[in-house]
Amino acid sequence: MECQKCGNCCRYTMVRLRDEDVNQTSLKYYRVRGLKHVVLKTVSGDQLVMLMIPLPCPHLTKDNLCDCYANRPEICRKYDGAKDPTCECKKKEGAG
Ligand code: SF4
Ligand code: SF4
Repeated sequence: MECQKCGNCCRYTMVRLRDEDVNQTSLKYYRVRGLKHVVLKTVSGDQLVMLMIPLPCPHLTKDNLCDCYANRPEICRKYDGAKDPTCECKKKEGAG
């Protein structure tokens, strides 16, 4: 899997919706507010519904590069696009 340098993983943060908030009324509310949601599966097969919150990182450059790459936070170092359904590298391969 090759990073397409789309920068999406540096533009959004995701929060897990509580089970009681995963219903048509709540999801419609989020949609109306312009927020998308994605569904993830854990290794044990559980379904997690995540809300994508637009929150562009100030370190993301216009070329979709990180201006503090050598010193980027641990969470950025551990990010694995293969586990992120919104990652463009998977869409490019037709698996997303
Ligand atoms: S979302 Fe995926 S393809 Fe896009 S920059 Fe991040 S890792 Fe690369
Ligand atoms: S610090 Fe760098 S890698 Fe981390 S979110 Fe910001 S631009 Fe992306």
